[in-house]
Amino acid sequence: MSKMRVVQVPRPGGDFEIVEREIPEAGPGSVRIKVQACGICHSDSLTKDGLLPGISYPRVPGHEVVGVVDAVGAGVAGWKAGQRVGVGWHGGQCGYCDNCRRGEFFACQTATKVTGVTQDGGYAEYMIASREAVASVPEGLTAVEAAPLMCAGITTFNALRNSGATSGDLVAVLGLGGLGHLAVQYAAKMGFRTVGIARGKDKEPLARQLGAWHYVDSQAGDPAVELQKMGGARVILATVTNADAMAAVVGGLAINGTFLVVGAAGPFPVDPLFLLMGKRSVKGWYSGTAADSEDTLRFSVLGGVRSMNEVFPMERVNEAYERMMSGKARFRAVLMMGAS
Ligand SMILES: [Zn+2]
Ligand SMILES: [Zn+2]
Repeated sequence: MSKMRVVQVPRPGGDFEIVEREIPEAGPGSVRIKVQACGICHSDSLTKDGLLPGISYPRVPGHEVVGVVDAVGAGVAGWKAGQRVGVGWHGGQCGYCDNCRRGEFFACQTATKVTGVTQDGGYAEYMIASREAVASVPEGLTAVEAAPLMCAGITTFNALRNSGATSGDLVAVLGLGGLGHLAVQYAAKMGFRTVGIARGKDKEPLARQLGAWHYVDSQAGDPAVELQKMGGARVILATVTNADAMAAVVGGLAINGTFLVVGAAGPFPVDPLFLLMGKRSVKGWYSGTAADSEDTLRFSVLGGVRSMNEVFPMERVNEAYERMMSGKARFRAVLMMGAS
């Protein structure tokens, strides 16, 4: 029996272990992927630290997976060995529950599959994925380029294109980190008047380089007032994980504006009067499904949108994870599995 190496979390809060396992078979309805690259996402800490109920251990994290289909299980149409594919957070759906019947596959009630959380993910030389969770990866993106787009990319791209903003609207992106540096690029390429907001004057050249029309240093003054001076934002995409930073900016919404949250932060106060007097809203956004991933990847090729990545071999997973979690990575960390 052939072996593969995986990075597993042995128990909640446990250190990563690189172990050998038998290469799994692709069962009915699933494909086996020979993984080439897997991005590290902040949400991997949910698995690492056991922050969600019901995760069984040992577990292989990783939901920014890119590789090549290596074997196809019974009853799988549409995929064949040799195809370049990616897998993100959404690991599949049942197709028959109430939410699935309404097309809301992300909220499947019966078979909630999350890559690297409820099933083994991409910190591995091989992984198994449900056929409906698999996205085609276009020519024009390397595995390392495509991997972070499977979570950080799809989340920001899909949130922005469903935000209600249209060409020429003022769209602010709060935060210029792993999510934010992609969001600014997508927003600019979508034709929005894109404003980058971050702490410190030193981030301005980066924001401009990514395509921002304007930059607001949130430490230099009141960022909400700055946005209102520009007429207010149709959309503020909050990519940070800091509730105080969100609270400081929400007042920059124009009438009918939407504060769109994709960063996981604690509670923050919002004035109900501010919302109702201007028909403003605060809303969250989930990443998306495999079809959304394909749209994200195609748009990224078309517009030249790329993640800035630090690349590590699988053996240096601890260092890569630490870089990502400490916020020191510029701007995503990606593991390469190429050694086998
Ligand atoms: Zn993620
Ligand atoms: Zn379902």
